[in-house]
Amino acid sequence: MRILPGEKLLVATGNKGKMAEISALLSPFGVSVVGLADFGLAEPEETDRSFAGNALLKARAGAKGSGLVTLADDSGLMVEALGGAPGIYTADWAEGAKGRDFGRAMAKTWGLLEGVGAKAPRLAAFCCTLALVRPGGEERVFEGRVAGQIVWPKRGTLGHGYDPIFVPDGYEETFGEMDEAFKNRISHRADAFGKLMKECFT
Ligand code: IMP
Repeated sequence: MRILPGEKLLVATGNKGKMAEISALLSPFGVSVVGLADFGLAEPEETDRSFAGNALLKARAGAKGSGLVTLADDSGLMVEALGGAPGIYTADWAEGAKGRDFGRAMAKTWGLLEGVGAKAPRLAAFCCTLALVRPGGEERVFEGRVAGQIVWPKRGTLGHGYDPIFVPDGYEETFGEMDEAFKNRISHRADAFGKLMKECFT
């Protein structure tokens, strides 16, 4: 799918951080980015069982509600010894009575790994799926991935989510110890966006 300079793109996320990151990535291509709030739309519930299914249902809803080409994403952590969990439930593992607590989500991940007796390297990958939908037309999905391993105890205070317990392949530091700009060059999101930009803008 080609996106033309000057074309308006709806980014179907209610997350301000993601909006800012995606706007910055797309601005060199002359694409103007608008958000769900501009159309009074809300993110639909993620009812699918795959990253791609959830990204697509969000992008389809946005395209239908706005009439614009719409980009949506879904991401998460997959741990091999846990059969790919938490996967689409990555954010849910942080939910508690007082809101999201990723300290608890990381402790849960480590506790389950100990429970199954997993030995190092405890293989895992962060995955990011981007879906791009043209209203009433073309649909494309781009999958990004960064492989690595889960470590304990957690290290680093940078980044977000599960970053302090994930060491990407080829590095000693966790994502939580890496400079944000550097992490953003090697991450699952960078991988998925690289594929999208190659197809849509070159
Ligand atoms: P969603 O893509 O907004 O549904 O979020 C999925 C969840 O995956 C987030 O809440 C984070 O917990 C986790 N996640 C996704 N990407 C990263 C990352 O780069 N570092 C740490 N956690 C991440």
